[in-house]
Amino acid sequence: ILIRAYHRLCHHGNYHADFPLILPDIQSPMNFLTNIDSPEAQTLRYRMVSEQIAARGVREERVLEAFRRVPRHLFLPSGPFLMERAYADSAQGIGSGQTISQPYVVALMTEALHLQGTETILEIGAGSGYQTAIFSLLCKRIIAIERHANLAERAGRLLNEVGVTNAEIRFGDGSNGLPSEAPYDAILVAAVAPEVPTTLLSQLTLQGRLILPIGEEHGPQRLLLFTKTPEGIQRQDLGHVAFVPLIGASGFGLPADLGDMDI
Ligand code: SAH
Repeated sequence: ILIRAYHRLCHHGNYHADFPLILPDIQSPMNFLTNIDSPEAQTLRYRMVSEQIAARGVREERVLEAFRRVPRHLFLPSGPFLMERAYADSAQGIGSGQTISQPYVVALMTEALHLQGTETILEIGAGSGYQTAIFSLLCKRIIAIERHANLAERAGRLLNEVGVTNAEIRFGDGSNGLPSEAPYDAILVAAVAPEVPTTLLSQLTLQGRLILPIGEEHGPQRLLLFTKTPEGIQRQDLGHVAFVPLIGASGFGLPADLGDMDI
């Protein structure tokens, strides 16, 4: 059954407030929690940032610092070679046929929004919650929507565990955004849409930015950045990408067997 209503799955209160691994103030020194992070993981993360992200042209220091601080390995399903998988230069499976994007792609999309710390963001396709955790260090508030119940539940739990208090995960079809909480300073869609959903553009503030892949489910896709200006909508092409499909009212249709829903 496709449940279209938005259920508020998780409210991020002050759970783990005594373990603020991730502090909203990016200037603060990093806190270590040896049971969920480690010097080895940190070394891999610093290398990921320099070799995969900075080396390809991501320059904003706040963005680089966020990637150094979020323990990406926590957001992948556990199993053999977790550290290698988590810090590899590629997308990785997160269950339910979905993927956590390649670190560089997450960084490219994040930097394109030029966040100052004051923004309210709508994220569509929360998946593992990794992008949400990165955003939590860089903006004021995030609402992230995920259509797979088990992924939404897991992302919400992980964000709580790492001490994120400015994000909430909602369960449902986010392909038409979330008008009830609009406008947003930025909207990020982490799944490919067949065309730009105009309803998303209407949920942006003036100067607001929308970033999303547009293209075919199994064919060419372009990462596009739209900025709402007084003169109209500006469009910038950030290059070729490969994302899983946005499934829903303004996305692609449901898979024929309906078997990919876990509710
Ligand atoms: N940024 C995520 C990447 C997730 S992949 C991360 O860091 O892990 C894209 C996600 O979009 C998948 O989890 C998929 O289930 C979700 N998705 C696809 N269509 C959706 C829709 N209409 N509404 C909400 N989520 C959707």
